[in-house]
Amino acid sequence: MVTTILTIPSLLFLAAHAFRVGSPGGTIFWLVAGVVAVAPLQWKNWALAGLLGFGTWLWGDIAFTLVQQRMALGLPWLRLAAILGVVNAVCLAAALLHFNRAWRHSRPGSLVPGLAFLLTTVGLSIAKQKTALDIILLDRFFPSGGWLVVILLGWYAAWIAGKMLSSEDSPQWRRRVWAIFSVVFFLQLILGLVGFERFLMTGKLHLPIPALIAAGPLYRGDGFFMIILFAVTLILVGPAWCSHLCYIGAWDNWAAMSKKRPGTLAGWTKVVRWFLCLAVFGVAFLLGKSGQPLSLAVALAAVFGVVGIFVMLVWSRRTGIMTHCTTYCPMGFLANIFGKINPWRIRIGAGCCKCGICTGVCRYGALAGLDIEAYQAGLSCSLCGDCISSCPHGHLHYHFPGLGYETARSGFIVVIVALHAIFLGVARL
Ligand code: SF4
Ligand code: SF4
Ligand code: SF4
Repeated sequence: MVTTILTIPSLLFLAAHAFRVGSPGGTIFWLVAGVVAVAPLQWKNWALAGLLGFGTWLWGDIAFTLVQQRMALGLPWLRLAAILGVVNAVCLAAALLHFNRAWRHSRPGSLVPGLAFLLTTVGLSIAKQKTALDIILLDRFFPSGGWLVVILLGWYAAWIAGKMLSSEDSPQWRRRVWAIFSVVFFLQLILGLVGFERFLMTGKLHLPIPALIAAGPLYRGDGFFMIILFAVTLILVGPAWCSHLCYIGAWDNWAAMSKKRPGTLAGWTKVVRWFLCLAVFGVAFLLGKSGQPLSLAVALAAVFGVVGIFVMLVWSRRTGIMTHCTTYCPMGFLANIFGKINPWRIRIGAGCCKCGICTGVCRYGALAGLDIEAYQAGLSCSLCGDCISSCPHGHLHYHFPGLGYETARSGFIVVIVALHAIFLGVARL
């Protein structure tokens, strides 16, 4: 009761402040936070502790600025400082009460969605504040509307994280959210194609072929945004770009799903991956260095993309393995290799009886006989997590140094779901 009595006015004060400074989106942000406060949500204490903690910092900053301004002008400031001090203290007390509640009743069901909410809202807020262009799409149509996107996607992330906590349900939810991302991405592309340039990140259209993430900068010698974004995901979640975040990978997954039980990756796959990686990036670099026209580079990239779709429709459908992602796409190969800088892994427990049931679940071909013998998923593993619930003896786990299996999996869900939600909210291409 006391928590609610302190929370609601704190959020209303923050909404009023946002309104006063001319930010309707910010006003709605704090009003939606009020809805979170009264809704029966398990994770709300973590979310409100974070939001009100931020509110406390905000009031402190406002008070400091206003008092300094008044002092500089020789105006009375004590009454103002006292009023803002009380508002700040109420906000801080509400934040601490929520933190105390969250800490005392800390369970994965509340902690994981709560952290996913906070990570998403913090990530989107930083992206919104720190990028020169309107990175959140809604800001391009409604000034300050991005704040509404920030809090709604935070809520969405909390909901998805809660759904993915169950290892049985997680494969289905992963495929759903991956498909949602791909649909949103291509919807945005189509809108860009028919002339609504405001849906494109920079107003310019790029071919939606993952290989161009690295091949594009190699050809042009600039435009490193996507490669930096890709590298950040490698640092945060290893190769999981290729199981949760890529707009094309979802297609390959869908194609492979047409065969119920996947086969195994052929032994020559690695050689083909090396060859394609060197060929694609080498050709892009040489085209750029030799000053070949953009039209030629775009035509070659388009051919590469069309052949990729053919690979999905023929080989992925036939083998049940995501052949496009595990053999053809050079970005997948880079993700697998450089993703190793991130410590999350899929490990097999010592009690594994080598029954091979999990082999028939992995569409990345990362649980072949040799991988099982080695007690860890192979190079092509994308940390999708689909195999975890397939082992009847519970021997498959996410592994992160220093963490228990469940904590490692929970941490992975928080980060990957937040990244998914952040990617949904920002302009792409
Ligand atoms: S392998 Fe390529 S197409 Fe597949 S998910 Fe990774 S980046 Fe995307
Ligand atoms: S080993 Fe497991 S987590 Fe890795 S790709 Fe295969 S199914 Fe996904
Ligand atoms: S399903 Fe479990 S026991 Fe069987 S091979 Fe895989 S990890 Fe080992």
